[in-house]
Amino acid sequence: MSDNQKSQRDAAVEALYEEAGHWHINTGDETIHAKRVGGKWRTLKWLTSSLWLIYFLGPYLRWGDRQAVLFDIPNRQFHLFGVTILPQDFWMLSLLLLFFAILLAVVTAVAGRVWCGFFCFQTVWTDVYTWIEEKLEGAPAKRQKLDKAPLSFEKIRTKGVKHLLWLIIAFITGIGFITWFVDAQQFWIDLLSFNLGTTALITLALFTVGTYVLAGFLREQACFWLCPYARIQAVMVDNSTAVPTYDFHRGEPRGRVKKGQNEDDRTTGDCVDCNQCVAVCPTGVDIRHGQQEGCIMCALCIDACDIVMEKVGRPTGLIRYESLDTLNGKEDRPLLKRPRVWIYTAVLALSLVGIAYGLSTLDAIEIKVIHDRQPLFVVQSDGSIQNKYTVKILNKMTEDMDVAITASGLEGLQVIGADKPITSQHGKVTPKTIFVRVPPANIGGDSMPILFRAVGTDKNGQPFVSERQSVFMGPG
Ligand code: SF4
Ligand code: SF4
Repeated sequence: MSDNQKSQRDAAVEALYEEAGHWHINTGDETIHAKRVGGKWRTLKWLTSSLWLIYFLGPYLRWGDRQAVLFDIPNRQFHLFGVTILPQDFWMLSLLLLFFAILLAVVTAVAGRVWCGFFCFQTVWTDVYTWIEEKLEGAPAKRQKLDKAPLSFEKIRTKGVKHLLWLIIAFITGIGFITWFVDAQQFWIDLLSFNLGTTALITLALFTVGTYVLAGFLREQACFWLCPYARIQAVMVDNSTAVPTYDFHRGEPRGRVKKGQNEDDRTTGDCVDCNQCVAVCPTGVDIRHGQQEGCIMCALCIDACDIVMEKVGRPTGLIRYESLDTLNGKEDRPLLKRPRVWIYTAVLALSLVGIAYGLSTLDAIEIKVIHDRQPLFVVQSDGSIQNKYTVKILNKMTEDMDVAITASGLEGLQVIGADKPITSQHGKVTPKTIFVRVPPANIGGDSMPILFRAVGTDKNGQPFVSERQSVFMGPG
């Protein structure tokens, strides 16, 4: 290292050490004002956070004359583009929830708390809130000073603007939530005409207050004290899981850079004890103490440490994504040799197959046929045998449909009561009583199979068919 490089390094670390006095590990008794630095993980965090735009914009996607994705709770329907799922098909939603739960487990087993660090609404919203805070109140040291400063016009103005912006974001978050459950366009009409229903108003108020408190005040404390996932992650990760890790072999014994020091002369490890990894940590933990519950694995300390290493002319990666096994010189277990990854993946695949099967067999109409047992049959004056049935037509479409009912399986049978198509109401079950009459010569026993067939036609003329097997009872 040349003298010029050494003096540049000394000036850089001097500034870091001066700043280091502000930083200490989170003890939970004061607000954490984390420092923001750039880097590839910071960029990745912004990119993954931006996926939450779907939450705000998704409800405005249209499919035909309605919202593309709508959890229509009052009508007990779930619209997903061209598919309408009724309570009868809700088992698919259970599989979908299982899929996401297992996906979370498999990702955690492979790469730790990726969800917490890069996707979780709590950390993403807190990140946005603290970004606003920094823009208005300045760098962490300034913010700490402002927090401790006595009340003044300037303090009230700065904090007032911040809280107003936080409340606006919280309010928009509440709107975002509601618009997945009611028609978004109608919601805005109701909101702007002060005509929102009680449920919508209460939900909006709860979400606004909840977001404001969680992201603005509780912040990392929610991860520490409220989130159950932080507790259960220990059983999902193992020594083969790659997580942000401090390379203590390389870093220790840590020691400050002395002015004019030659790299060859130093007796310390690579860690220059600048505390920058603690400074940028949104939960205020010191990753050099090893894996801990407070670490949400956002990898921001990797960016911070890499910047420091570049400044002091040492290799980057002192903190990096690494498994404990690899760090300790053990051979990394390939994914295929880790049973928990196999098990999680198998459950994941099964739930996907179930969802795919459910969607592929989702019918637009479905009939159920209930045979009337009081009496089982009636002998008509001409000797023919008549059975009574209640046909229930479930119309899963978004509009009413005319459905024609026929029956087959017995020679000479006659369907009475279904000569005209039945109008089945959309999203509902429409019952219809019909009779089937069979001449006595064609009765071959006391119980004979009979097949009912419903054919519905939508407004574009597309036919939908549903069949149901039942029995025809006779005197034997
Ligand atoms: S690990 Fe890196 S960022 Fe943290 S104190 Fe050591 S040198 Fe600084
Ligand atoms: S220790 Fe590092 S990875 Fe963990 S939360 Fe803090 S900054 Fe993120």
